[in-house]
Amino acid sequence: MNQDFFTSLRKGEFRIPICVSCGAIAWPPSANCPKCLSPTQLKKSASTGTLLEFSRSHVTGKDGVFGLVKMGDIRVIGSFDSGSLAEGMKVKMTQCGLLDDGTAYYRFVPTST
Ligand SMILES: [Zn+2]
Repeated sequence: MNQDFFTSLRKGEFRIPICVSCGAIAWPPSANCPKCLSPTQLKKSASTGTLLEFSRSHVTGKDGVFGLVKMGDIRVIGSFDSGSLAEGMKVKMTQCGLLDDGTAYYRFVPTST
């Protein structure tokens, strides 16, 4: 568990833990590198990615459109307001944060091409 990652996320900033020694990405977020166990440091990430797949959820409280987004070397599950999505389209993270129960959330919109 990387406390810094969640502190940053709570402020609405998306930053990815990168190993200070070998440069590997620690994802899911971790305070130590998954490869060499060196400490990681948060680096600002690009906010754009590619939508790999998506589906509509009808679970109460979590209804909406959710998609798997590839951002560089990591993948996150984000929510979308728009239903007009297509696999492979470019998307942009517009918001991120923590829910009251501590769950991370990410919101995306399609980027105009
Ligand atoms: Zn490393």
